[in-house]
Amino acid sequence: MQNKESSDRLIARTVDRYFRRLGPRAQVALCQLPLTVIIVALVIAAPAAWPAVLASELFIASLVLHALLFAACLLVPWERLGPHAQLVIPILDLIAIGLSRNGAAPNLQGLGVLAIFPVIWLSASGMAAKTSIILSFFGPVVIGLPSLLAKIPNVTPADITTAVLLPVMMLAVALAVRFASVNMRLQQRRLEAQDAEMRNLLAESKERERLLHTILDTVDVGIIAVDADGKVLLVNDQQNHFESAARPADHAQLGDGSRQNNEDETQPLLLSQDRKTPLPPDRHPVKRAVRGETFADHLVWFGESPRQRAVSTAARAIRNDDGGFDGAVVVFNDVTGLVEAISAKDEFVANVSHEFRTPLNAVIGNLDLVLEDEEALSPLAVERLEVAQRNAERLLALVSDLLVSASAAASIYPRKTDLAGLVESSIGSAHLHAERSKVELDTDVPAPLWVHVDPLRIGQALDNLVSNAIKYSPDGGHVKVSARSEKGWVRLQVQDAGMGMTEAETSRIFTRFYRSAAAKEASIPGVGLGLSITKAIVERHGGQISCTSQLGAGSTFTVALPADGPPSQP
Ligand code: ADP
Repeated sequence: MQNKESSDRLIARTVDRYFRRLGPRAQVALCQLPLTVIIVALVIAAPAAWPAVLASELFIASLVLHALLFAACLLVPWERLGPHAQLVIPILDLIAIGLSRNGAAPNLQGLGVLAIFPVIWLSASGMAAKTSIILSFFGPVVIGLPSLLAKIPNVTPADITTAVLLPVMMLAVALAVRFASVNMRLQQRRLEAQDAEMRNLLAESKERERLLHTILDTVDVGIIAVDADGKVLLVNDQQNHFESAARPADHAQLGDGSRQNNEDETQPLLLSQDRKTPLPPDRHPVKRAVRGETFADHLVWFGESPRQRAVSTAARAIRNDDGGFDGAVVVFNDVTGLVEAISAKDEFVANVSHEFRTPLNAVIGNLDLVLEDEEALSPLAVERLEVAQRNAERLLALVSDLLVSASAAASIYPRKTDLAGLVESSIGSAHLHAERSKVELDTDVPAPLWVHVDPLRIGQALDNLVSNAIKYSPDGGHVKVSARSEKGWVRLQVQDAGMGMTEAETSRIFTRFYRSAAAKEASIPGVGLGLSITKAIVERHGGQISCTSQLGAGSTFTVALPADGPPSQP
């Protein structure tokens, strides 16, 4: 339906364009042409069909007038006259047709019908409606009048009907043409308004596009927008810069053009957090975004040393009106400076902690030695020395945690490991602690469950999560460790029904030294380092850790780890 409408519009516009191109004289001649052609045909047929009409002076005069009118159409400089000047032609046509009809009567009674041509012309022209309707009615009246007058006094009802019928017919034609042309003009105005609106919208959208591109190319983060099929819709300058710097040296100069080429060796080199292992294609931030994943702070490394950059990536889905997935925007933020600063700080903390440990060990060792000879000391001295010993041990534990937290991410040696075994030994060592805290331990892990991890580090992370789950269930309860493998990943959950946390607290627990208000109030021992170490370990394996919690109802920690092979292997 809409197609037909638009093809009609197209035809109308094409005809209109050609007609306008003709120039005023050719236009007037074209309007006059149908009548002239019929008169010429009549003249050719007359000697054989109606020889008598050629004898009529009136008819001959009408032919001369028709000829003159056609010649005037071609010769008069209409362009210099007013826009309505050419309407003199259809008015004179009515006179010429009157002469023809009365000159040819009674042999050719029907010639009055030719009035339809000037009537259409007048009605379709822009002249005042009233004038064109009067002319269209009274012109044919005048054409038929002489025949009627000639019959007086023997006028029959049939004669009167014939004389009235032609003007009425012409009036009907004039009205129909008038309505049609008014309708057409309205439609044309509507189309013009739509055209203007479209042009405005187009200009506006071009302006917005320019603004968007300027903003995109001004910001110092890389941005890629892709559609639901992963086709790149938009890339800003910064992203092109990131990618060309991350391409293997031979391809760096290929620039942006190689993006369509989609071949692996021309793709920018993305490495995982160990800065060595190429990121498996399905873990590429853009690929993840195309799969509909929403993420933030996913750290990847672009390119090889010494030009290697640490880039924090984030993705948001683009939704259509129905809420369906329509593509995604992926943002790349260069955080090399920050990552370097953090690792310098970690190194500093590790060095300082290491330096602290030696004197602390000496203090504790000497305190132990002094306390071994308890009888030689006064009870007060023993009490004071025990306080000093407890605090020195706490300090040593803190320094050890600091050391681990600074080095947790540094030394990871992943290999094929059975997670079920790790869970079992972690639960085994937590058993006593759980019993004392009246916490029931439960596992739901299929055995074997292969993961590609460093068993020492993941065991340490697991111990942290399980001991926290017990520690933060002060009224006893139930702790469940479960794991399942799905799509190249193993999802491990440690769930407790303990004290839980508020949403704001949950979002901060992976920050170093952070402790929830309830944990501090309940005087549960801890320094707030365990979870930051756990997170560093998990992320170093290319995994993720998250927590959902509700104050007073318990918490669930979820860890995603790469399944049995390194992610880059099939
Ligand atoms: P620590 O336990 O030594 O304080 P963590 O880094 O392990 O340090 O934990 C940080 C904080 O997160 C804790 O102090 C506690 O407030 C909160 N937390 C951790 N695990 C849980 C849990 N299972 N339930 C409730 N709160 C928890």
